[in-house]
Amino acid sequence: MFLAGNQRLIRHANRLAILREVRREPGISRSGLAARTGLTRTAIGRLVDGLCAEGWLCEGPRQVAPGVGRRPTPLTFDGFRRVLLGAHLDGERSRLVATTLGGEVLEFSASPVDGYAGPQALVVLVEQVAALRLRLRAEGRQICGLGVAVPDLVLRHAGLRPPDGAVMPSGPSLRERLGSALRGQGIVDLPVMVERAINCVALHHAETLSAAGGHGAALYLHVGEDVAAAVMHGDALMRGRLGLAGHVAHQTLDVNGPLCSCGRPGCAQALLGLEALRRELGLPRLLSAPALQTELRSRLQAGHELTRAALTGLAGHLGRLLFNLARVHAPDVIHVGGAIFVPGFDPLEEARRRLEGLYQGEPSPRLQAMRSDAQAVAQGAASVMLREMLEGPACAPA
Ligand SMILES: [Zn+2]
Repeated sequence: MFLAGNQRLIRHANRLAILREVRREPGISRSGLAARTGLTRTAIGRLVDGLCAEGWLCEGPRQVAPGVGRRPTPLTFDGFRRVLLGAHLDGERSRLVATTLGGEVLEFSASPVDGYAGPQALVVLVEQVAALRLRLRAEGRQICGLGVAVPDLVLRHAGLRPPDGAVMPSGPSLRERLGSALRGQGIVDLPVMVERAINCVALHHAETLSAAGGHGAALYLHVGEDVAAAVMHGDALMRGRLGLAGHVAHQTLDVNGPLCSCGRPGCAQALLGLEALRRELGLPRLLSAPALQTELRSRLQAGHELTRAALTGLAGHLGRLLFNLARVHAPDVIHVGGAIFVPGFDPLEEARRRLEGLYQGEPSPRLQAMRSDAQAVAQGAASVMLREMLEGPACAPA
């Protein structure tokens, strides 16, 4: 076996296995861990003691159990010493959240930025991280990783270093540029992970639903400046090659449709994104998403039929895209969110009608609106970082 000759590697793999089990079942006992992992009670005891001493795990009070015998001690993630950071760069704000390993939010801040992930946005994010790091250190906490969520269009232009080591496109990846900016502030030991924003949304949403008992195969679709999808099956996120599974923006929906920014006609992005609404309604191309939403809301309140017709047409395209995606991924439920939701208009009504029509009487997946607060994407980015750490070398013993 590959691990047999390397005791340190085996120990590291066993530590990760324990952390993954505690994450899956907070409150699990040492004997529960032994049953799940196949390790001996002695080995579990030694590894858990080490993880507790390093601030990964903590032990709760022994549970009061009926009958005789040794009462189990529940193990959970340490809620104090180790902290995860999650950031969301959406082109207008750099949002930064600090959470415990268990996902509890400790701090949240948002600063305006000019553009998605250019030098100015990275300077703002690094300043936020540096200030937060000082405060957390003063409290005796240690940051163990930073997850950064960016929309697909940033990854297309800024580059993502995917797990297989390839670089796309040429030039330093966003992860490398951010690492360099952090080192410039003297932050040299912080693992960084860059992830698609929609994957972070999906992960955060799935974890919330999972805590409430929800599960199954789920598709997540964001429609705003960008059109992006994520696929989850239970707890598993499908990332795909280059980490770009679910990159649906340039899926062709209508070969006779308007020209997309990619040069092809009728892409989902050209028919569904906010750019499509601006074009349909003759609004300025540079009108921001919040300003566009305000304009749409006031037009709907004034009974502007052209606006309602444009939104209804967009929702019809949404139904067609959802049908295509649902045919491929067969989800139980599809969650849709983003700036496409405007007070006074529910795009899912028309999308559902179109979707059910295309299914021609067959059962179609449930459609649900996905509303998330300002910090949800950043929280998801912190969760992505934790997952990366539990799969990689970040929690190796010092
Ligand atoms: Zn396109």
